[in-house]
Order: sequence, then structure tokens, then C-alpha cells
Amino acid sequence: MATIDGLPPLREVIRAHDLVAKKQLGQNFLLDLNLTSKIARSAGDLSGSDVLEIGPGPGGLTRGLLAEGARHVVAVEKDARALPALAEIAAAYPGRLTVLHGDALELDVAAHLTAPVKIAANLPYNIGTELLIRWLSPPVWPPFWQSLTLMFQKEVAERIVAKPGSDHYGRLALLAGWRTDAKIVMTLPPEAFTPAPKVHSAVVHLTRLEEPRFPADGKVLNRITAMAFNQRRKMLRSSLKGLAPDVEARLESVGIAPTARAEEIGLEAFCALARNISAGT
Ligand code: SAM
Repeated sequence: MATIDGLPPLREVIRAHDLVAKKQLGQNFLLDLNLTSKIARSAGDLSGSDVLEIGPGPGGLTRGLLAEGARHVVAVEKDARALPALAEIAAAYPGRLTVLHGDALELDVAAHLTAPVKIAANLPYNIGTELLIRWLSPPVWPPFWQSLTLMFQKEVAERIVAKPGSDHYGRLALLAGWRTDAKIVMTLPPEAFTPAPKVHSAVVHLTRLEEPRFPADGKVLNRITAMAFNQRRKMLRSSLKGLAPDVEARLESVGIAPTARAEEIGLEAFCALARNISAGT
């Protein structure tokens, strides 16, 4: 059967390289190249950008990104078994694919990337949230990337885009909403993957804001939301007691009822509280 790029279908690639999926590496592969091209398109125009991909595996999304015109793809893969399959893709797209063998949580990829950079990945579920938090919390803002187009378990995707009052609303939604515009652009059933996971998945597209949506010190904001959501059913005057001796007065002065609960409070009010705490007296 003809493919988008003349390379063999992914089922053949997996068979030829004996890429039996390993659960501990979060390996649920996408084998439909029309679907991976669609995911690549949801990352926007790639023609003038480098794309960082985490976990290319047999290369389904990598091929989608290249076929959709990515200037250069830098793909970080932990599983050495996938490297020969990825080398075949690199040979079909001379100079446009760099594969780095290693752990995405440890490798420093900056030297391999040229701005503008977009990140696109069907993430291994065990490290997806940690990577997202790292990308959203760099020491300086704006970060090295312009947008993130990431596959997550649907439940995690819903936590990223959640609004106040919803069960999914919490620290992840506040962090994402503070520094990006985030939306779910696609949902996928388990059967879209091989092997099929137990849960549905969703692709989230996050576009960075050049400045955080409301001013606040990131560390203070993070401390407040951690305290507030670690006891999300408690009233804020109680969950935030350790923040300042006069926390009730501070809540009131920024317009938050001390009896409110974390899940009712929006980003703007949390940022106002963070500024109040940073200001001290
Ligand atoms: N991109 C492929 C696709 O869409 O079919 C594979 C996605 S699969 C969900 C996750 C991939 O991440 C696997 O290839 C796995 O080996 C790789 N991986 C797991 N942990 C990793 C890590 N710490 N660093 C880099 N890659 C990792």
C-alpha cells in the first residue's frame, strides 16, 4: 500500500525491526500515517520551524511532521531498538531529521535546535505531565518553544484546559492558563493506538503568551496553588493558614472570600493574592 512518503507502512516497520511494545516505556504506537499527519497539521505551519519530538518510537508522528514540511525535526528516543527504523526515515529526508538517543528528562536538547521551535509529541504517559510542567516553568519567560502539541490521556488533557468550578480544575490548569492559550484539538479512542491503552487520549495545543497573563512571581503563585489545591475541599482561610499570619485579611483585600474553596477561584485572583504576598506588609 502506498504511504504518504514512500517509506514502508508502520506495521511493516514494526515487524522488520521487531518493535514489540514495552509497557514500561509507555509504548502505544500510532500506525495510521493519515492520523499522524493530521496531528502534525494541528501544530500549525511547520515549514519555518524546528520541531522537537519526544519519543518518536517507530516514527509515525515523525513522518507526519516531516511530510507536513517541518524544517528540521529533533527526535529524542530512549529505546535503542527504534534507532534503525528512525535512521531509515532520516535517510529519506536528508538533513531534516536528527535522532538523539537518551532520556528526554535528562538530555539537553537546546544545542540541536534553532528558533523558532515547536514541540510535538505523542508522549509516554509516565513522563508526560512532568515534561509539560518543566516546559511551562523555565527560569526565564518566554521559553525556547513557541507552541506545544501534545498527546495525553484524555483525563490529563481535561485537567490542562479546565475552568474554575470543574472537577478537573487545579494546578495544571492554572499553570497552563497563566502562560499559554491551551485547547484540546483532537480526541482519540483507544483503538487508534497499537497496543490499545485502557483510556481515551486527546491532543492539546498550547501557544505561549509572550508574557504571563497576569503579573505574579511564579514561585509564590506555585506555593499558593500547591497549598490551596492540596486541600481543595477546605476553605482557603484554612488551607492557606501557613502562608501569612493575616491571610484572611489578605484574601479579603484582593477580593477573595476567606470561606471560598480553591476550585472556585480563577487565575486572576490567585495572581492578585501572589502579588499581595510578594509585597509583604
Ligand atoms: N511517537 C510514537 C507514536 O506516536 O507512535 C511513539 C509514542 S509512544 C506513546 C512513547 C514513546 O516514547 C516510545 O517510543 C518510548 O520508547 C518513548 N519514551 C519513553 N520514555 C522516554 C524517555 N524518558 N525519553 C525519551 N523517549 C521515551
